Amino acid sequence: MVSDCIFCKIVAGDIPASKVYEDEHFLAFLDISQVTAGHTLVIPKKHARNLLEMTPNETGELFEVVSQVAKNVGNATQPKGMNVISNMEEIAGQSVFHTHVHILPRYSQEDDLKIDFTAHEPDFDQLARLAELIAAQ
Ligand code: 5GP
Ligand code: ZN
Repeated sequence: MVSDCIFCKIVAGDIPASKVYEDEHFLAFLDISQVTAGHTLVIPKKHARNLLEMTPNETGELFEVVSQVAKNVGNATQPKGMNVISNMEEIAGQSVFHTHVHILPRYSQEDDLKIDFTAHEPDFDQLARLAELIAAQ
């Protein structure tokens, strides 16, 4: 428990949340901002700054819960699709520094979630170098 962490406070029951799933290690609750209806956060109960601080095993268990909760949110809200996003660090839009995965039902391209992937012309030599570098880690 990190005393100034809002999500640790939700885990501890010190501040309320609209919970949709809970087990020994994980919790899911509605995001207060409801970017789209049913916008849900899945978090580990154990504090970690973000996914990059968690082990692959912990992240795997978290995503098992994300998978189930996403299906439950979808069954309840019947969207046309969904985005699952985890922001890591401020540059990527992280504002609460306790790992969380956003589940965002999508009903319309004109809704309030804006994600813009600007494509670039491929440089195949650069792709090969980068792939080699990543694979070598
Ligand atoms: P981030 O920007 O870090 O990826 O997402 C943090 C999310 O936490 C935001 O979407 C924000 O609306 C949500 N949030 C912040 N404070 C609270 C809170 O007290 N309760 C709930 N349910 N959500 C919160
Ligand atoms: Zn925390």
